[in-house]
Amino acid sequence: MSGGSTIWLTGLSGAGKTTIAQALAAELSAVGNRVQVLDGDELRTNLSAGLGFSRQDRNTHVERVGFVAQLLATHGVTVIVPVIAPYADARARVRSSHETRGLTFREVYVATSLQECRRRDVKGLYARSAAGEIAAMTGVDDPYEPPTDPDLVLDTEHVSIDAAVARVRSLLTELKETA
Ligand code: ADP
Repeated sequence: MSGGSTIWLTGLSGAGKTTIAQALAAELSAVGNRVQVLDGDELRTNLSAGLGFSRQDRNTHVERVGFVAQLLATHGVTVIVPVIAPYADARARVRSSHETRGLTFREVYVATSLQECRRRDVKGLYARSAAGEIAAMTGVDDPYEPPTDPDLVLDTEHVSIDAAVARVRSLLTELKETA
């Protein structure tokens, strides 16, 4: 069975990870690919229920999601993961776990600035953080370690949703060409 691949979209809240993931999944499904989006917020209500936002809990969440991604990829699924994953060590462990099993892992850094993410404030989290209603907001008063060697960087302030999706698709096409 041919191995699938995991495309991990990392970046701040509001950077555009989910938007790109959903648009990409729709395009790939439309041309017959088996695709699964693993949405971080949704998985926090089941797979990672009970976990908080400490460094340890965030990394446990990332490793659990990474494990599920890996299982799906083993069955040839293209797995798209729009999850903040703020710590480089946990992202590296997920990559290495995929690579050990001959599965492809690609890291896409959705590098939209904090200023722009704050301006969008899609979920109202930045406002709640500023009001002191939530603590440990990634990029504000909790760390975000940007990837040092991502496979692709997308700043959605300057790259449209369609262009972003096209660029991730080229990353996947390159995978097929080199497979
Ligand atoms: P995240 O999943 O990273 O928290 P979301 O995808 O939920 O972010 O939210 C990003 C917001 O930014 C959406 O409202 C989306 O419509 C908007 N947006 C504006 N331009 C872009 C773009 N070029 N790419 C992705 N999202 C964009």
